[in-house]
Amino acid sequence: MNVADGLEMGRRLKARGFAATTDPAEADVFLVNTCTVRQHAEDKALSRLGRLADWRSGGRRLLVMAGCAAERLGPRLTRRFPQVDLVIGAKSIARFDEILDERWPRTAFDGRREWEEAWGWGAGLDDTALPGEGVAGFVTIMRGCNFSCSYCVVPAVRGREVYRPALSVIDEIAARAARGQWELTLLGQTVNSYRPAGPNPGPDGRPVGDFSDLLRAAAAAPGVGRLRFMSPHPQYIDEKFAGVLADTPAVAPHLHLPVQSGADAVLGRMRRNYTREKFLAKTRLLRAARPGLSLTTDFIVGFPGESEADFEATTSLVAEADIDGAYVFKYSPRPGTASADGPDDVPDPEKERRHATLQALLDERTRRKLAALVGTEQDVLVEAVRPDGDRWSWETRTAHNRKMFLRADRPARPGDRRRARVTAADGKTLHGDPA
Ligand code: SAH
Ligand code: SF4
Repeated sequence: MNVADGLEMGRRLKARGFAATTDPAEADVFLVNTCTVRQHAEDKALSRLGRLADWRSGGRRLLVMAGCAAERLGPRLTRRFPQVDLVIGAKSIARFDEILDERWPRTAFDGRREWEEAWGWGAGLDDTALPGEGVAGFVTIMRGCNFSCSYCVVPAVRGREVYRPALSVIDEIAARAARGQWELTLLGQTVNSYRPAGPNPGPDGRPVGDFSDLLRAAAAAPGVGRLRFMSPHPQYIDEKFAGVLADTPAVAPHLHLPVQSGADAVLGRMRRNYTREKFLAKTRLLRAARPGLSLTTDFIVGFPGESEADFEATTSLVAEADIDGAYVFKYSPRPGTASADGPDDVPDPEKERRHATLQALLDERTRRKLAALVGTEQDVLVEAVRPDGDRWSWETRTAHNRKMFLRADRPARPGDRRRARVTAADGKTLHGDPA
């Protein structure tokens, strides 16, 4: 989501005559887009700001800080970091144009539609990609979060859910597909809670009432190859969605479905709105709908009150839900959240041990799952191509979202789709040859 927001903000700057550069020495504006979901993420952003003091004083330059840490810290930031010229919190990203207008009048920008004027999504797409944009793209379909997980700062910094009209989503999808982005990821904090209240017609005039309808309409948009989405919430996984997964081949056979914990007591205190058994039932529903589906997830270890038995419930869930991979986070108390009111009572060394134990278990599963793919053929999307001695190395991605490197006699073009034979697997990547 932050990558997508960063690109969106970059596009607004481009519309005012700026060009993107990866060399800070050359830059007039440095935009630091920040995360605050864990303290560690915020610390990284602040240390980056600290190190930019020299850059800022090296010429007539502007340092902009945007995103969720900016939202959380607000004016405290400029007091602590006088080198910051402009703070644009996550809730103000929608007003990014207005804020920029005060500094730099538009040159080429021309908002396309009422909603885009108000929300600043999707408009201003052009033929020149920004750094970070390739043959796969992101499409934001909603912002904010209406859940209230007790550990999470997102609802405070991003606000309530706002849904983007289906026609605007489909327009951006078609525009990106026409530019050669074969694979698109629909984005939202809880992407499948998409439920606009008013009329929300799709391209065929029929109402798009929920995420399942939107996914179907997206798959039917001209030029669409593969669709992914991040992150669905287990509560909104239902029969209707399973139906779309079953009969829409454009939807990738991979879901990132955050579970956080395998223990009911912890899930309850996290206010996740499901139990272990409910989550497992949803994974069975999904797997029945799409045989071969791969499932990845997020875990938080060391949540307040997490006992050894709770932690073991989490490790056993990995096998029971047949998890293909996961991000594991150590619980980080966020000021202002419900769980930060109580004690952070799992000592850090114990959090560290649980993190390492769970991560090792997941790495071993990934290793075994990838090893089992040796000898199979996969459909891959070529993302980048580099010379490799007298041959070529193609960096590709499988439908299940695994990176796969191919060695080939010939170059390929980013965006090409190929069949590839898996010859080896190491850690988290596959290796092979074009089939
Ligand atoms: N909306 C998504 C998650 C977005 S935040 C969902 O509900 O599934 C991304 C991940 O960061 C979460 O899945 C969670 O694992 C982690 N996270 C969020 N708050 C955290 C905290 N306070 N400490 C540690 N990890 C956290
Ligand atoms: Fe945070 Fe929960 Fe919302 Fe996800 S669903 S963004 S974890 S509050």
